[in-house]
Amino acid sequence: MFKKARLKLTGWYLLIIMSVSILFSLIVYQESTLELGRGLRMQALRFNSRERVMEITSTNQPPHPFDISVLEEAQKRIAMQLLFINLGILILSGLSAYFLAGKTLKPIEKVLDEQKRFISDASHELRTPLTALKSEIEVALRDKKLNLKEAQKLLQSNLEEVDKMQSLSNYLLTLSRYQNTQLKLDHEIVKTSEAIQQALINTKKIASIKNIKIFSKGKDVELETNYVSLVELLTILLDNAIKYSRKEGSIIISTKSDKRKVYISVSDEGIGIKASDLPYIFNRFYRADISRNKTQVEGYGLGLSIAKSIADMLKGKITVESRPNKGSTFQLIFSLRV
Ligand code: ADP
Repeated sequence: MFKKARLKLTGWYLLIIMSVSILFSLIVYQESTLELGRGLRMQALRFNSRERVMEITSTNQPPHPFDISVLEEAQKRIAMQLLFINLGILILSGLSAYFLAGKTLKPIEKVLDEQKRFISDASHELRTPLTALKSEIEVALRDKKLNLKEAQKLLQSNLEEVDKMQSLSNYLLTLSRYQNTQLKLDHEIVKTSEAIQQALINTKKIASIKNIKIFSKGKDVELETNYVSLVELLTILLDNAIKYSRKEGSIIISTKSDKRKVYISVSDEGIGIKASDLPYIFNRFYRADISRNKTQVEGYGLGLSIAKSIADMLKGKITVESRPNKGSTFQLIFSLRV
């Protein structure tokens, strides 16, 4: 598909360049032959009048005409030269138009590829709970002796699968919201302590299930940002820190600032991230193998890509440092005023 589009675009580029070049050549040809004709006529005129003055020839001899074959010869030469120039332009611009068309289409191709991958990943993630749901219902329908207790158990399991799909669709909606370049977030003065407090409330339940202690230290800083998005971002980082921590572990949220920036970090003592995984963890649907296999932690690999989109939207930065089996520190950096 892109090969065809590239050739088409090359054709359009060439059409524009060659139209300009041919038009320019026609003008040059027209003007130069006119100028040449005028020059030759002037020359003939001057020649005739000089001969008359010098009275070398008899007076009844006709004036010396200018030689038309000289003009024709010159016209032919100009036309040939212009033809060669145009051929050169055609070859050169053809090659550069093909190269430029490739360059123009490259980012579009990349976005389309990404979109295709995104759709296929999202469908794949949706298919897993849907398949589980379908097979559970089918098995139950075939069971003639299904009693109320078993039916309730089945519905409970169905509900879990529905919850997974709901959470995936929520993730996808949040991601598309923050990746929408048209989105304009309102900014207000936000106290970091309040945003952290709200993120702690949001993750309280899962932290208590694993009996994880969370400490918040450092100063309370005021910054100009969007409160809801900052809370959402902190919640994702805290949620991950809890998910990838061992039971009874501890997490530290610390805040510091200098004259222009505020630094909020979330550190855990959990499973950590391998150096080879680090460059990819912010990619959509990326999950390190260790999270998929060993620990069986639930997730879709969308949290950090949402976190990155929020940080970008808030004109901030998100960095990570991690060591396997030692823990991870995610740091957010924001300007105090935007
Ligand atoms: P999810 O947690 O749903 O898998 P994320 O996008 O939030 O998706 O994270 C991507 C991957 O980065 C995770 O699968 C995990 O491998 C790794 N990761 C993120 N946060 C942490 C953390 N605090 N500790 C260890 N690994 C983490």
